[in-house]
Order: sequence, then C-alpha cells, then structure tokens
Amino acid sequence: MRKPFVAGNWKMHGSKASIKELIAGLNAKVEQVSGVDVTVCPPAIYIDYVSQLLNPSIKVGAQNVAQEPVQGAFTGEHSVEMLKDLGCQYVIIGHSERRAIFGESNALVAVKVKVALQAGVTPILCVGETLQERQSGVMQSIISGQLDAVLDLVGIESFEKIVIAYEPVWAIGTGVTASPEQAQEVHAFIRGKLASLSSEVAQKVIIQYGGSVKPDNAVELFGQADIDGGLIGGASLNADDFMAICKAAGA
Ligand code: PEP
Repeated sequence: MRKPFVAGNWKMHGSKASIKELIAGLNAKVEQVSGVDVTVCPPAIYIDYVSQLLNPSIKVGAQNVAQEPVQGAFTGEHSVEMLKDLGCQYVIIGHSERRAIFGESNALVAVKVKVALQAGVTPILCVGETLQERQSGVMQSIISGQLDAVLDLVGIESFEKIVIAYEPVWAIGTGVTASPEQAQEVHAFIRGKLASLSSEVAQKVIIQYGGSVKPDNAVELFGQADIDGGLIGGASLNADDFMAICKAAGA
C-alpha cells in the first residue's frame, strides 16, 4: 500500500511576511490531516526560514539543485549538501519550467536525480507532455524519453527512492486540469513502463499528479488507482486550499 504524498511548489513566490502568514495557516491545520506525507518547497533563499517556523510534521524540500555534487565556483547555484544542511528531504527536479525556461535537458535532469540520490535527498522527478505533443500522438514517447534518461543513469532499483510527478505542461498554472481519466491513463502507462523492468519497484513508486489541482478536483484525481497524491503549484500558496488538498489525499 503506497502512502499518498502531497508537495507544494511555491515557485518564485513569497516574502518573509507572506511566508510567515502562510506557515501560520499550515501549522494551524496540520493536525487535521492524516494518512498523507506533506512537503513544501519554498524558494531556496527561504528554506531555512521556513524550516524554523514550520510544524515538523510537514517536511521541507527544494525546487532545484546544482548538477555539481560538491561545493565550488558555481555562481548562483546551491548544492545538494547545502540543501541537506538546511533540512531538505526532497528536491523537485526537471519541472517543466526548468526544462522550458532554463533549457534543462533529459540528460541534465538525470544527472541531478543521481546527485540527489547519492546524497540521500529524495528527487521529485517531473515528467509530462506539452499540448502539442499530446495532440500529435507523441505523448508516450516523450514521457518514456524523460524516464529513460533517468533509468539509464541510475537504474530501476533507484526508483524506489524517487517520487515521480506526472505534470502535463498544458495543465500547469493554466486552470485547465487533466481529467481524472486522462491523468490515470498516463499514471498507469508510467507504472506499467516501470513494471516491465521491476514489478516490485513499480508497485512501490509514488506517482503524483500535478497541474491545476484545487480542493474541488483533488478528491476525484486522488481517487484514481495509480495517482498517489499531487504536486501543487498555485493552490499551495493558500493554506486553506493546500490543506484541503492534503486532506483529500489522506485518510
Ligand atoms: C506546478 O508548478 O508544479 C503546478 C502543478 O502548478 P499548478 O498547480 O499551479 O498548476
């Protein structure tokens, strides 16, 4: 039985004042949530601040990590050891915004996953297709390619320690969510692909759905057989909405 997992991706949002308020809201509601693991991923510059304020039953993650495993002359980057030092247990890798805006390739994403795994930080590996890719019938090969780059570098056994987030690019931040059936179809495809390499690993791997999840669509999405929680963008900036989503994923 897989325990659902919900992670909030705050992207490049917030200030000390707004974060303090958001965390007060999360802490006030966290006791109402059970049967689900919960993490928030603030901008790196606020991770330490968040760790100090947050109820420890909510874990802290990062949104990106350097491909270089050790510290050095890499201006503007933060290493996985630095993330660990601040208490991060998770790191989002290969978000579509990093792929599209910052040009992160499948190969680079795979290297970052390896760096996180080697340090004992759980990667949340994002995969997903654009609308054009879906409409032109190459969705499965795009997602396969994103997974294969990581599989080739770290092997199927490592996927026991990787969280996958299926995030159709056309559903991120658009208010258009995949229907539960559309999402389930891709989740089943991903789990099936992993099962062709190891059925044991495939049964264990957490596959989150991400893309305009809101309190009013979360129950139906999370009710699908292969959807094990969500990666939440916009709605994670509102404590009431985020906790309602966590509740929907939990017991
Ligand atoms: C995301 O950024 O990972 C995301 C899913 O965003 P949103 O929930 O706003 O669509």
